[in-house]
Amino acid sequence: MLPKILTKAEYEKLLKRIQGNLSVNKRQTNTRFELPIVDIMWEGQKTYLRNFVEFPQVLRRDPDKVLKYLSKEFAVPAERIGDKAMFIGRRDPDDFTRLFQIYVKDYVECPTCKSPDTKIVKENRISFLICDACGAKSTMKGKYA
Ligand SMILES: [Zn+2]
Repeated sequence: MLPKILTKAEYEKLLKRIQGNLSVNKRQTNTRFELPIVDIMWEGQKTYLRNFVEFPQVLRRDPDKVLKYLSKEFAVPAERIGDKAMFIGRRDPDDFTRLFQIYVKDYVECPTCKSPDTKIVKENRISFLICDACGAKSTMKGKYA
């Protein structure tokens, strides 16, 4: 069978529709998740993440779990001081940004539909990610849930 040949008008209409879909997807990707800007301060050989508390809020995760994750990934002791978090050693803002981006991928984002509207449910000591958007139940990629 011969493929259907589109007229120029049909082709342009189709192209527009595809581009329309693409730009919608792209917009969703960009506004899907806005992480706060990392605000750090150094004091001797310590790094303070001054707006630590904003991250668990946006991620909708337990602050203690988020702190534990950062501490484990940096392999240094960390401590929460009010809204701040203190880490031993000097860390760059980029180090935090990178870890938070991984955190989103491993602990927050639904692998099926990429929605961040998820929660963690523990069953028999195994953590699952339940998606509020599509209902998918996935195993967690992260180790410190
Ligand atoms: Zn989903």
